[in-house]
Amino acid sequence: MASNETLLAIFMNESLLKTQAYIDGQWLTTDNQFKVDNPFDNSHLADVTDCNQEQFQQAIDAASNAFTHWSQTSPKYRSKLLLAWYQNILEHQDDLAHTLTLEQGKPIAEARNEIVYGANYIKWFSEEALRINGDILQSGLDKQTQVLKLPVGVVGIITPWNFPQAMIARKVAPALAAGCTVVIKPAAETPLSALAMAELAHQIGIPKGVINIIPTTRAKEFGKAITASKKVRKISFTGSTAVGKLLLKQAADNVQRTTMELGGNAPFIVFDDADIDAAIDGLMVSKFRNSGQTCVCANRIFIHDSVYDQFAKQFVEKVKTLSVDNGLNETAKITALINPKAVSKVSDLVIKAKQQGAQVLFGGSVSPANHNIFLPTVLSDVQADMSIACEEIFGPVAPLIRFNTEQQVIDLANNTDAGLACYVFTEDRHRIRRLSHLLEFGMIAFNEGAISNEMAPFGGVKHSGMGREGSKYGIDDYLELKYVSVS
Ligand code: NAP
Repeated sequence: MASNETLLAIFMNESLLKTQAYIDGQWLTTDNQFKVDNPFDNSHLADVTDCNQEQFQQAIDAASNAFTHWSQTSPKYRSKLLLAWYQNILEHQDDLAHTLTLEQGKPIAEARNEIVYGANYIKWFSEEALRINGDILQSGLDKQTQVLKLPVGVVGIITPWNFPQAMIARKVAPALAAGCTVVIKPAAETPLSALAMAELAHQIGIPKGVINIIPTTRAKEFGKAITASKKVRKISFTGSTAVGKLLLKQAADNVQRTTMELGGNAPFIVFDDADIDAAIDGLMVSKFRNSGQTCVCANRIFIHDSVYDQFAKQFVEKVKTLSVDNGLNETAKITALINPKAVSKVSDLVIKAKQQGAQVLFGGSVSPANHNIFLPTVLSDVQADMSIACEEIFGPVAPLIRFNTEQQVIDLANNTDAGLACYVFTEDRHRIRRLSHLLEFGMIAFNEGAISNEMAPFGGVKHSGMGREGSKYGIDDYLELKYVSVS
């Protein structure tokens, strides 16, 4: 079956298969295209328009022109459109989920969850659009002091491949709610989900130029174009810390505002007073979602010495039940990693850990049946200074590390530049209070393995970034304060 037909056979609504750039409300093509493949079997899914400088500038101009009108619309109007977009996305949940699994590889059940998770941010910010309130300060009879909250301007957005729909929704929703317009570059591996979202926005009447989507393989050039443009007033990036730092430096020259959602290295801590069954369930969720390819995945698993052996034994039994399969299969839990480079990276980390003394309790290699899949793996006797515990693994590998005291595990957990997510299992409420203060992470989950939803502020500290997405705080990143004094 030819490439696009594979997709179309699964699509219920063919109109969502978009392969062109979306600029100023129009679908545009160029002379160049790039291939999008299915990470499970490397089959060719689609040829997508490869944008260049000319389209980057066209999109920035379109967003800038649209800003004049969009920023002056009423919050009610923007709220209504965001809600309609949310509903349109939910109506096409299954089509979007299939696209997502085909281009990204994650299990279809997780893809369906991502569509709802992302859509929930759009609904949330449709409501927050109505609550952008400035202040009038008490200033005496002959003066009025006002604080206005106004949209920042055009926002340049760059997103990664691991959540192709939700990372876009999490940024575009607050931007549009605030009155900003956007130019988005999705990851080159996963442009189809982003383009389908644009089509759904187009269908419900989001005005031209408000959302622009630029598929391209020229990531570096795109980054330079949006950071150099005087028309772009904010950069919102989710991706690796290395690229985030580069964009921060570039944005500094143009004094642009930034939101940076960068890499993590999440500790998962199990104390001796924890409910072990609950901790294992939590770890299964936190470690193996998206086959370990999330920024909040448990990356270093610290188990108290007195429960370590019992925990390891029970955990391995659970891991053995994970079904390794094509993401399109409803029962799949562990699927292909995004590309061969990702598989090699995970493989190298496991080989190095073994050389350094780690023991493989389960898995430990690439699947013999499909070289794009790394088998779910449990390693014991891992030390906190091994590379596998210092780098983001981004694969289904669980390194188990022993600890003895609370202070020791706090020091070990904090001993990283990353500060995104952290998980702790303990039944001691005094410890929960202490650790809430002492662990240096933007998000801490006690006694649960899933941390993110639209009502809570998502984001990290230290090299994991700056700014927050979601929650009542999330819209502030897209608003400027303006002080007005009227005598
Ligand atoms: P990445 O290599 O940094 O890529 C992310 C995006 O940046 C892609 O769209 C990529 O384009 C683009 N890019 C690459 N080099 C660029 C440059 N020089 N200038 C401008 N843009 C550039 O990260 P990834 O491997 O896709 O994603 C995984 C990383 O994202 C992990 O570190 C993960 O922890 C992090 N992440 C963080 C969060 C969070 O909320 N904190 C959420 C999800 C993921 P191409 O696709 O064309 O290369």
